[in-house]
Amino acid sequence: MEIKTMRFGVLTEKGHAEVRERPLPEMGPDEVLVKQEACNICTTDYQQWLGQREGRGYPMASGHESAGTVVAVGEKVLDLKPGDRVALAYVTCGICDSCKRGRGCTNNEIGPKKISPDGYRGMFAYADYAVRPARALIKMNPSLSPSEAAFMEPLAAVVKGLDKLRVKPLETVVVVGAGTMGLLNAQAARAMGCRVIVSELMEHKLQVAREMGFEVMDGSACDPVQEIMRLTDGKGADAAILAVAATKVNQQALDLVKHVDGRILFFGAAYPTPAIDIDSNVIHYRRLELIGTFGADLTDFCTAADMLNQGVVQVAPLIEKNKYSLDHIQEAFAEAATPGKFRVSVLL
Ligand SMILES: [Zn+2]
Ligand SMILES: [Zn+2]
Repeated sequence: MEIKTMRFGVLTEKGHAEVRERPLPEMGPDEVLVKQEACNICTTDYQQWLGQREGRGYPMASGHESAGTVVAVGEKVLDLKPGDRVALAYVTCGICDSCKRGRGCTNNEIGPKKISPDGYRGMFAYADYAVRPARALIKMNPSLSPSEAAFMEPLAAVVKGLDKLRVKPLETVVVVGAGTMGLLNAQAARAMGCRVIVSELMEHKLQVAREMGFEVMDGSACDPVQEIMRLTDGKGADAAILAVAATKVNQQALDLVKHVDGRILFFGAAYPTPAIDIDSNVIHYRRLELIGTFGADLTDFCTAADMLNQGVVQVAPLIEKNKYSLDHIQEAFAEAATPGKFRVSVLL
């Protein structure tokens, strides 16, 4: 059966997602036809649905946390074959200066800001079929479900952040926030040999963190700074990863880390923008490192795939039980945007 069209989810305006159909682009010699099987709803996706990221523009054929199975490959594709399970990395041009240096693509004709000839922004990840450059696909262990394999992208962002934070074995790392990204950070830091303490306010997230075997602290029932000092014999953590963005958390982080040489990773974004109030003399004398991170590079995708493929990071507990078909993408966004949810998976 020849596949000629693709059905895809698109955000047309704030609060509205619908399914449309378009012709499937022709597959080039270094491209791959993928039967996309699952796409998980990222915070950036549902924040736009909520109207918090209007600057990204419409119509937005969004999604980027997707996985599926190879259907056909172009004649120049060497390392993928029909039947392989793959997850989607970023689509890069490979020829701009930023790509050549191993960083994210800045080529707007091909990279993430591209607008398709029929006027859509986005990567068409909530689509049943897609044609992708082979270099944007990473082979995944077939024992992972498509919803699990789709965690390669968020985990790659975690790998990038931990690389920037330069965590070392035996260091104590506090992860603030036990949502999807917090618990991915916590598991990856543990895989790298760190002692990880997870701080969270919501009981059901604390429970998931406990079941994963982490030391946890209920931020609503204790003073997180005092508790970290107690757990670290008054030293403070070597590093803090802020997987929630809030002014209060930013301020608290300054006191969670050790007095000298503490490092803080600002992992998440929130709208409206949270603030941080800090005296630059404090950064100077305490030799504090305030580190930002966003996105991932190809090398991070490969490391993230290794972690999932080897079972070092478990993502099944981070997927909500309710799964949605593409036709119910509007309901899927509504659930994803409900506070306290882990990843909502759309099955394609
Ligand atoms: Zn994402
Ligand atoms: Zn590029």
